[in-house]
Amino acid sequence: MSQQQQRNRSRSKRRAIYCPVHGVYLDSMSQKYPLYASKPEHLQQRGFGRKTALTLVAHLGTVPITGEWLEAFWCDHCQRTEWYHVRKVGANAYTLTSAPEDLWLQVTGVISPTGNPTVGEFTRRQARQTRFEGVKDFHRIG
Ligand SMILES: [Zn+2]
Repeated sequence: MSQQQQRNRSRSKRRAIYCPVHGVYLDSMSQKYPLYASKPEHLQQRGFGRKTALTLVAHLGTVPITGEWLEAFWCDHCQRTEWYHVRKVGANAYTLTSAPEDLWLQVTGVISPTGNPTVGEFTRRQARQTRFEGVKDFHRIG
């Protein structure tokens, strides 16, 4: 890719986030939910040494994980909203994976205080909420 192309790409407002199934642009249906590491293992999985990971968590309690978040997207082809774990891997490059349960547990502010819902329950509930709040914007864009 030439530098000019790269510039054009990053100037584009639309993030290069595509449906992993259909390869089409996805419409964001939620805010970004930042991820926090609350256990040393979370940091070790991301390349920190065991000692560093232990020290960080001991001192900070939770450590923000940069460049990763959870976000809901609507796919025209899937005809539904899905939650994804998004990883920023370049200026305008992202990888998406379906959000597994252990990631939900790392997100602050979205965990029910009465217990951890399963991903399925949570996704359904949250998707309804998101659709409800986001439906006007969605139609305006469409
Ligand atoms: Zn799709």
